[in-house]
Amino acid sequence: MANPRHEKFFRIEMDSSSSHKAIVIGAGISGLTTAVYLQRSGIQTLILEKAAGPGGVSTSWKRKGYTFEGGVHWLIGAKEGIPLHQVWLETGALQESHPVHFKDPIYTLVDREGIMPLFRDLHGLELKGLRDRMALWSLRFHLACFRHFHQPINDLRGLRVKYPKPFSVGEYVKMLPAVLVTPFLMAQSARGYAKRFKNNRIRALLAAVVEPNVNALSLIYTLGTFHEGDSGYPKGGSLRLAQNMADSFLGLGGEIRYQTMAEGILPDGKGWAVRTDGEVLQSDVVVVSADARSAIDTLFREPLQDGWAKKMRSGLRTTQCMFLGVGVEADLSSRPRSMQIVLHSPLKAAGRTYETVVVNNYATEDGYAPEGCSVITCLLHGPTYAYWKAAKDDGSYEAKKKEVMDGFLEAMGKVIPEIRDAVVVTNMATPLTYERYCGTFEGSYMTDWPPFSRLYHAPIRYRKGLYFTGQRTAYSGGLPPAAQSGRTTAQTVCKDFGVEFVSH
Ligand SMILES: Cc1cc2nc3c(=O)[nH]c(=O)nc-3n(C[C@H](O)[C@H](O)[C@H](O)COP(=O)(O)OP(=O)(O)OC[C@H]3O[C@@H](n4cnc5c(N)ncnc54)[C@H](O)[C@@H]3O)c2cc1C
Repeated sequence: MANPRHEKFFRIEMDSSSSHKAIVIGAGISGLTTAVYLQRSGIQTLILEKAAGPGGVSTSWKRKGYTFEGGVHWLIGAKEGIPLHQVWLETGALQESHPVHFKDPIYTLVDREGIMPLFRDLHGLELKGLRDRMALWSLRFHLACFRHFHQPINDLRGLRVKYPKPFSVGEYVKMLPAVLVTPFLMAQSARGYAKRFKNNRIRALLAAVVEPNVNALSLIYTLGTFHEGDSGYPKGGSLRLAQNMADSFLGLGGEIRYQTMAEGILPDGKGWAVRTDGEVLQSDVVVVSADARSAIDTLFREPLQDGWAKKMRSGLRTTQCMFLGVGVEADLSSRPRSMQIVLHSPLKAAGRTYETVVVNNYATEDGYAPEGCSVITCLLHGPTYAYWKAAKDDGSYEAKKKEVMDGFLEAMGKVIPEIRDAVVVTNMATPLTYERYCGTFEGSYMTDWPPFSRLYHAPIRYRKGLYFTGQRTAYSGGLPPAAQSGRTTAQTVCKDFGVEFVSH
């Protein structure tokens, strides 16, 4: 007789069209991608999500009628023809009703000298002499090497696939130039690479594209996607994107339980079981899309001691940020969309000093603020988890958050005078906020990848029936690896269980 605590999920099992069932832990982008493909392939899938909505760290939220975009700033694969584009279509993330805006310039430097835009084709940069001309030539050369460098979307060998994606040798050959310059780029930081330019203003502009401490490969890859006309902002932003995916999944017959925390994974007969608040849900397949770095210590009876898990524990360095959002009763639509602002005086925040800040201005996005009003946001990068944890412990957390926001508003008021006395609402997230809402390790949203460092990944297939997916299984994180790993995980499950993979 079935254990009554299993009952709820057993009802799902009785769907006669599905012979296998899966539980996906987490409705972030990787979990949703996995779930859409599994469900479409005929595996009855249930998502357990601890938060109240989909998206994970890629999300946006509303306060007093103002929308704060706390996730996607650019979506790689937004352009038709890029292999990943197909995944965004198949998962329902991109829809005709929510077109993508490909901003150009991608960033605009704002300093005491005025403004300097960084256009996708790099025209108009103020070059100071031969050194800058050489540096620009070299940058163009590296971008040309990355012209055809795309994350390939292939099918696993030996998998039955309804709509096979033919393997193209040509696709890989075209990536060869990028592969050849990769070691050179990985051996230096983005900041070091930008120093080839004599003009400090160009250096500052390039520092807006990726965190200056990461390797130059990340800079060239990211800039390359803009250069090729990819990387745009989908209308409605993160929340729309995630909601589109969730709707596609539900439309296929899947189930999502929000505000449901997976507390543990246990072997159960031939399959696996997930313990949630008051229930044990039995399944053939469990996919962990929650941060694997947290999961290895929290989701199993004992912390995992496999070699990869130990390496992850000792070697993985996280990317953390503080998020600041401000709603103002002022129309900022004449200001640039994404600004790299050189501050008049440095901003001190959480024990760190910021000479420049990247500010996104959503004044031209429909519905992000009441008529005539605007929203600006800013991410302050750096490892501040320990700082905020200590503040929480000694009771100074809220006061310290206010200190950071006050400093930011004062700094912004000097550069964008319209916002002075026009602030209606402020909102700030620290790594502790991300930890609380998304369960990410140290409240991070990606993995740090400085020069000469290694990345430590969780395997996609841990055991038959137990899989990882998401940001800690591929590269240093971001939306493309989340989607790509989600698809690979779904294919791995299908292969293990002899199920035909159906992509669309
Ligand atoms: C401010 C910001 C800006 C960004 N900008 C970009 C960008 O412009 N472009 C880009 O490509 N990437 C960007 N990223 C990174 C990108 O959003 C992430 O790398 C990606 O979304 C990670 O997705 P994921 O599915 O792997 O993980 P997550 O989003 O962490 O998903 C995991 C999910 O699991 C849930 N969960 C965790 N534990 C449990 C549990 N025990 N039980 C149930 N559910 C659980 C979490 O709540 C979460 O929903 C940005 C991130 C942030 C924070």
